[in-house]
Amino acid sequence: MATYDDQVLEEILNRLDIVEIVSESVNLSRKGNRYWGLCPFHQEKTASFCVTPDKNMFYCFGCHAGGDIFSFVMKRDGLEFREAMEYLAGKAGIELVKSRSGKQTDHRKPVIEVNQAAVEFYQQVLAGKLGQEAREYLRRRGLEAATIKKYQLGYAPDGWTRLEEHLLKKGYSQEYLKLSGLIKRSENRNNFYDLLRRRLVFPIMHYNGDIVGLGGRVLDDSLPKYLNTPETELFSKRKVLYGLFQARDSIRQANKAIIVEGYMDCIKLQQLGINNVVATMGTALTSEQARLLQRYCEKVLLLYDGDEAGQRETIRALEILGNEGLKASVVSLPMGEDPDDYIEKYGKEEFLRYIQNNKLSNIEFKINRYLSREKELNLESQIRTINYLRKDIGQLNSELEKDYYIKILARKLKIEENIVYRELKKRERDISGIKRNKSKIIRDNIKYVNYGINEKILAAMFKKPELFEYIKNRIGLEFLEERDLRALAGIYEKLKDNDSDDHLERLGLLANQQGFGSAFARLALLMEEESLPGEMEIKRFIRQVERKEEEQAWKNQFYRLKDLDSEGNFYSFLKFILNLNSFLNDTQEGGKR
Ligand SMILES: [Zn+2]
Repeated sequence: MATYDDQVLEEILNRLDIVEIVSESVNLSRKGNRYWGLCPFHQEKTASFCVTPDKNMFYCFGCHAGGDIFSFVMKRDGLEFREAMEYLAGKAGIELVKSRSGKQTDHRKPVIEVNQAAVEFYQQVLAGKLGQEAREYLRRRGLEAATIKKYQLGYAPDGWTRLEEHLLKKGYSQEYLKLSGLIKRSENRNNFYDLLRRRLVFPIMHYNGDIVGLGGRVLDDSLPKYLNTPETELFSKRKVLYGLFQARDSIRQANKAIIVEGYMDCIKLQQLGINNVVATMGTALTSEQARLLQRYCEKVLLLYDGDEAGQRETIRALEILGNEGLKASVVSLPMGEDPDDYIEKYGKEEFLRYIQNNKLSNIEFKINRYLSREKELNLESQIRTINYLRKDIGQLNSELEKDYYIKILARKLKIEENIVYRELKKRERDISGIKRNKSKIIRDNIKYVNYGINEKILAAMFKKPELFEYIKNRIGLEFLEERDLRALAGIYEKLKDNDSDDHLERLGLLANQQGFGSAFARLALLMEEESLPGEMEIKRFIRQVERKEEEQAWKNQFYRLKDLDSEGNFYSFLKFILNLNSFLNDTQEGGKR
């Protein structure tokens, strides 16, 4: 199995995210830094299938399937290792030396390549003589060079066929240029022209960095202000979030994403150091986009325009986010301003202060929104408002939180808290019935008690190389009676003598190749626990192992004695007695080894 180039394997592992690959077929929910879902490899009703992106591993506590991204794809699609590698290399955009048959039906890759080449062309233009006007524009808008580079902004120059000519000259086929939508057939003549002209160009990337489409913005007030390449097999606006590729690590770290509407809003915020931001590109948030975010975080902040359209869109987005189990909060900007405008007018500090002071929870936003539409506060409107918020408040998990919103609601409706409380209580039973069916139930993982002491000790040893040495020197590795664990320890022992910087990564790779992927994945999860054996427990464990060995040694002496007794040989017996002295010295407390 080790014939495949390890570098290619590692490259694939680096480029791909196991959460993303698993999410293709399993609906995962984030809990802390792990993801849980129903196991695709056995029938179950509660989630015991777990993915840990930090370790790039999956493991099922129900059926013990486990391993890395390769084992997952092999198991899921019934592939050979080589096939899984080809599949994943394709996903990662890595060219393998030997390709399979010549059958090529997938247009995605060549179109992505055309898009990439177009972006490079537009970047060159922006930097060159023809880019003068666009550079001036970007300078006025306050975009820094690093930002322009990070988002790979470019400029589509004036002229009808500049891009087409450039790409054809570079050897790209016209067929894929057409498929990309970057050139368009003219209506009355049988030729093509460039879609984007005299526009600032924003590459639109899939979460993995593939350029799936391009957006263009005019430099002046002409219309349309924005123009995107058309929806294709590759590019569906519903399924992409602008900036996710650049933001995904920050989103995961913060466990939170900020959603804005436009490219410029997204880029500007990022430049301010707010890195966990994505844009919906001017369309309404879709459930596909929400699911995309849900792979990375549990919380979302909507940062939309304060005008009526923006407010309406916020309500819709809150529904969608709620349905995907994301916890949302809202900041509405003053009427008619988007984040980009606001930052330009008032500067960074003021913008950050505004966000801080105007953040509303999902429910607070809904209360305000609802009340703003009621003409007057009377009995009817009070009841209507309570009914409207019943579901949201009923779904809160914590009583403290419920209490908090009941207080707010009472204050806003100018009635007593206990009246709101009673009103909400009235139909709570129906609501909780619905809730049980609708929301995903994820159990806290209580399966850790199932780990054996040897696993716990070995996990602690892998975590600290000094501890591995220490324990090995004290009691050897024979205490690992389980075949898998002994194999893992064996692989690790060989690895740690090489001076590679990440032994665990290599261990995972080799363990998977040698068929111990599941055991390693199980240990990898354990290694993330804080409650691994501490110094005291390890010392106690070592003493136990030693005591067991002593007991065994005594037993051996006893059997030897019985043998000698039946043999009846005096000299052998004498020799035994003489040796017994040194044996006693050895087995006395602290005397051994
Ligand atoms: Zn399973």
